[in-house]
Amino acid sequence: MTLRLTNTLTKTKGVFAPLDAKNVRMYVCGPTVYDLAHIGNARPVIVFDVLYRLLRHMYGAGHVSYVRNITDVDDKINARAAERGISIRELTEETARIYEDDVAALGCLPPAVTPRATEHIGEMVAMIGDLVASGNAYAAEGHVLFDVTSKADYGKLSRRSLDEMLAGARVEVAPYKKNAMDFVLWKPSTPEQPGWDSPWGRGRPGWHIECSAMAGKYLGPTFDIHGGGIDLVFPHHENEIAQSECAHHGAPIANVWMHNGFLQVEGEKMAKSAGNFFTIREFLADWPGEVLRFNMLRTHYRQPIDFTLGGLRESWKTLEKWYAVTEPLADPAPDTAFFAALMDDLNTPAAIASLHQADEMALAGGLGFLGFSNVQLKLAARVVVDDGAIAAAITARNAARASKNFAESDRIRDDLLAKGIVLKDGPSGTTWEPKR
Ligand SMILES: [Zn+2]
Repeated sequence: MTLRLTNTLTKTKGVFAPLDAKNVRMYVCGPTVYDLAHIGNARPVIVFDVLYRLLRHMYGAGHVSYVRNITDVDDKINARAAERGISIRELTEETARIYEDDVAALGCLPPAVTPRATEHIGEMVAMIGDLVASGNAYAAEGHVLFDVTSKADYGKLSRRSLDEMLAGARVEVAPYKKNAMDFVLWKPSTPEQPGWDSPWGRGRPGWHIECSAMAGKYLGPTFDIHGGGIDLVFPHHENEIAQSECAHHGAPIANVWMHNGFLQVEGEKMAKSAGNFFTIREFLADWPGEVLRFNMLRTHYRQPIDFTLGGLRESWKTLEKWYAVTEPLADPAPDTAFFAALMDDLNTPAAIASLHQADEMALAGGLGFLGFSNVQLKLAARVVVDDGAIAAAITARNAARASKNFAESDRIRDDLLAKGIVLKDGPSGTTWEPKR
């Protein structure tokens, strides 16, 4: 069975062949640690965790190198630390720790290496130096900028030409830039801002060069898979390609580029202003992590996903139903339909569909393979969200209320509340929703 993956760079689904089957290499962009990760940030972590598990299964657990960085130098970090009146270090350490805890609660394996940007400034300065020496970058007023006109195929990942980008550019162009689309590799720091000495003065790196330098250090000039959310295609990944290819004499940075689709909440774009912005932590207060994970995997990674309470309830019910007949097995024995689905561009909804038909052993193996353990559901105090039982309780409560037995009707309401079910009395009767 061959693994086929969709490559954003070629816009085709092709057979995956690693450069070295003894060391399959994958890089996924990690968080900028200034604030708690939101539920959209959880998607690439879960998607690429499943791919990581599949690659370990195919090539052996000791033959896959998975690197996910932590961006701990960024202007958003400086601003947030000042706002909160804490040091930059305190903020980044606290946020990184919460992030690791959150993604562990989602059932994700830790990557082999989790490099921090601040620990790789030397590599970044060296790479920027190479780009200046090769004529792909230039220093101006304490900044170093990448000259996008120096790379003929700039825009190949996002499939935009420089002319189109210029036409669409709304940003005011800084006077030190030769071209409007030139991007920052290094910028000067004031004495209060974090900074490091460099040939261009005391300053700090731009975001894009961080990933290029760290990926190059741990995975070499060319590796197998580079992943991230679709929102990173431009400019972040486009610029990673430009920097790394120019610094590595044209060697492609990654053979396969994979991107997961957007996440919406209840049909709306998630935004703080829309009031539907949720952090992973907020979700974990109300839902076991494996329910979030299952809900995420029920949609193919390339499709947009709509995160809804209805979907979460359905995910919880399915997991409860399965856990009632079997326990996930760490040592997988899933059947061929399950693997065939995953090998076809990581088709997790089809793999999950195959589990509905699978026998007990294959179900147990499939659940374990996808990273489910049943630990959290067992710990969760709440019982199965069973529509029939809730409807029966509502009927019993209505009867108690009709006979003015309010002690009993309150008891039923409180009993449901303890199980995470909130009753709502309205003009057309009583409805319910899960406690949030
Ligand atoms: Zn990155």
